[in-house]
Amino acid sequence: MRFCSIGHKLPGSAEDTTLITYKSKREIAKMRSAGQVIAEIFDMLASWLRPGLTTLEVDQKVEGMIREAKGKPSFKGYCGFPASICASVNEQVVHGIPGSLRLKEGDLFTVDVGVIMQGYHADAARSYAIGAVGPEVAKLADATARALNAGIQACRVGQRLSDVARAIETVGRDAGFGIVEHYVGHGIGTALHEPPQVPNFVSRQILEDDLVLREGLVIAIEPMFNLGTEKTRELSDGWTVVTADGKCSAHFEDTVVISENGPEVITRPSGREIAIWLGPVGTSGSRS
Ligand code: MG
Repeated sequence: MRFCSIGHKLPGSAEDTTLITYKSKREIAKMRSAGQVIAEIFDMLASWLRPGLTTLEVDQKVEGMIREAKGKPSFKGYCGFPASICASVNEQVVHGIPGSLRLKEGDLFTVDVGVIMQGYHADAARSYAIGAVGPEVAKLADATARALNAGIQACRVGQRLSDVARAIETVGRDAGFGIVEHYVGHGIGTALHEPPQVPNFVSRQILEDDLVLREGLVIAIEPMFNLGTEKTRELSDGWTVVTADGKCSAHFEDTVVISENGPEVITRPSGREIAIWLGPVGTSGSRS
């Protein structure tokens, strides 16, 4: 496994918490502007995604919006990743490369996107149901979105990183889904991936070195839940991660600022706490 991937993990490594950076109000303002570009992209995708689009067309549309906002895509060229979004369909967990694959009715399609504004990153992901998905898949996506919200609610000054991990894990376990362990959330700022790692379960390691959350910490929280096994494997393209059993996976992510006023989700419209699992998009009878 390599360090250099989008949503990384250093297995078994103790983290140097002295490398954690706490952002000033000025820095957070820059991250907020990057986050708001992502919020607008998700708004656009909710009404634009439909069966028949290729994942490359989605990538081009998103990159156009980033450039128009005078931002830069965080992922393009990152360790050689060739695109502006990660496009992961059904059994693909993360890091899918946009290409000729056409979305079809019943797909669960995850778009993960990072934006840089004035040198600062924001990073977020949504899973979209392309038309009607099966009830199991809808339940999976709903639980993953709720787990993200639970993790966000635990992001309070004085709480610990393990409280965030536990909140996410509890939703996944209660719903009975596989919780991906191999890929985790992360600190974020002038680099896309900064310490600390933010796992989606309470690992032994996190308890040994449990960080107290302080004002100015900014983290990307990103639960990935699977219908079946939590185990994953990487395809020969060197990027795409799929479930080991070929069953569906869902992924939701937001960038969150820890502040004295509680968590601020900078990748949602104006930091508002809103429902993020939309149900079906892109067909008649779906959300307009
Ligand atoms: Mg991320």
